[in-house]
Amino acid sequence: MQLKNKYDIVVAGAGIAGIAAAVKASSMGASVLLIEHYPFLGGMSSAGMVSPFMKSQTAGIDLVKGVFQQMEAGMVKMGGMIDNGFYAWAFRATANKLLQEAGADITFSSDVVEVSVKDKTIESITIAGRFGLQTIFASQFIDTTGDAQLIALGGFPWLKGDEQTGKLQAMTLFFRMGGIVVERTAQYSKENPKDFLPWMDFNFNFEKIISIAGFKGLIKKAQAEGRLPEEIEYVFFTTMASTGEGSFNTTNILGVDASSSEQLTKAERIGHRQVSMVVDFLQNEVPGFENAFLIDTAPQVGVRETRRAQADYMVTGQDILSGARFEDVVARGSYGIDIHGQPGEKSRMDELQEGQWYEIPLRSLLVAGAENLLVAGRCIGATREGHAALRIMPTSAATGEACGATAALAVKNKLTIREVEYGQIRLALIHNIEN
Ligand SMILES: Cc1cc2nc3c(=O)[nH]c(=O)nc-3n(C[C@H](O)[C@H](O)[C@H](O)COP(=O)(O)OP(=O)(O)OC[C@H]3O[C@@H](n4cnc5c(N)ncnc54)[C@H](O)[C@@H]3O)c2cc1C
Repeated sequence: MQLKNKYDIVVAGAGIAGIAAAVKASSMGASVLLIEHYPFLGGMSSAGMVSPFMKSQTAGIDLVKGVFQQMEAGMVKMGGMIDNGFYAWAFRATANKLLQEAGADITFSSDVVEVSVKDKTIESITIAGRFGLQTIFASQFIDTTGDAQLIALGGFPWLKGDEQTGKLQAMTLFFRMGGIVVERTAQYSKENPKDFLPWMDFNFNFEKIISIAGFKGLIKKAQAEGRLPEEIEYVFFTTMASTGEGSFNTTNILGVDASSSEQLTKAERIGHRQVSMVVDFLQNEVPGFENAFLIDTAPQVGVRETRRAQADYMVTGQDILSGARFEDVVARGSYGIDIHGQPGEKSRMDELQEGQWYEIPLRSLLVAGAENLLVAGRCIGATREGHAALRIMPTSAATGEACGATAALAVKNKLTIREVEYGQIRLALIHNIEN
């Protein structure tokens, strides 16, 4: 593929939001370039080894369909997805296929390093790739970098962290282990329920993916003896018992801001130190792990929160918990406010009742003061509480698709993103808006 220097739409960042944006915009006829720092697709869903997909259903209604369900179907077909859990390889392979079928161009190993703005309009961006710098022009731009990189580089407004304390959510380096006798570990949890998290379901169905989270008594003892770092609150893993494999969302990296390279380096070191201590602990002290072994650590630490956009509308925690409705709805979600806290800050998981959902307005995807810049995924316009609900993968896919559709309609009708008739956007996204 020969990279052109002009596209209708540039999508920066190929996590699930950028993939959905690029697939949607290309399938609506726009010429699209997807730019990605890594030499592979997926962002947190792949480089962070984050799985499973969090909840996007309520009372039997699928709130996110479209590209998200195409991803699910592709992964199931190749045997890389069970229930809501998936392997990173299956994610990458399916996303590659969908993007190719839609006709989007991709440039890997490329970083957006400069954004050129005139009269509130992005004229071009500069990417640094393996062969040096290249300038790319486009009519519309979509920031799906997770870190609001285009917004920051273009001098547009953004926010970061808790409105009062500035705190950012904890980070986690995912890892996978094999050789676990899951039934034995599950039995141990049943016999020691107080050591496990309150939401755990001890009626294990070993035909499905199960979650085990806790081991608090064993952890306390190991910490007192200096064999586990103080930051580890509990061991949490998801597993399909028959595989003997588990995916661990357990390390707890505190006090680090992932929007700085220096701090990310620090997080990487802390993460690997924690993984090796947790693996040691599991092998020596937890029933079922006697012959277990480390398979892999994620290529990068998982980042939950950095910059987020200042958008025309900021989705609030109140919007989430009250199930807000908007006249310019473009996506929906049912996942509650999930904050992995820092020292001095309580972690939160405020869930919605079954049957409840909230809507996400187009305005939260329109970057304030920018004429041709949309934002999707982890860094859309929201307060910290709103962000803590909207950041999950299915919702990121839905907002990505909404940006892709809006940008494609703007290009097709030669309009700005704010001039596109909402009725047309609604029609393009109806599967994610109506039951
Ligand atoms: C530890 C952890 C556990 C989680 N657990 C779950 C879970 O169980 N279920 C769930 O649904 N969600 C979970 N999440 C949330 C979810 O994984 C992410 O919020 C979501 O994947 C974000 O998708 P995204 O596309 O917005 O951003 P990302 O996946 O972060 O993708 C952004 C992409 O942009 C690229 N990029 C950044 N800057 C540039 C640049 N300048 N130039 C080019 N490319 C750039 C990056 O390399 C990356 O590929 C978890 C997150 C973490 C960190």
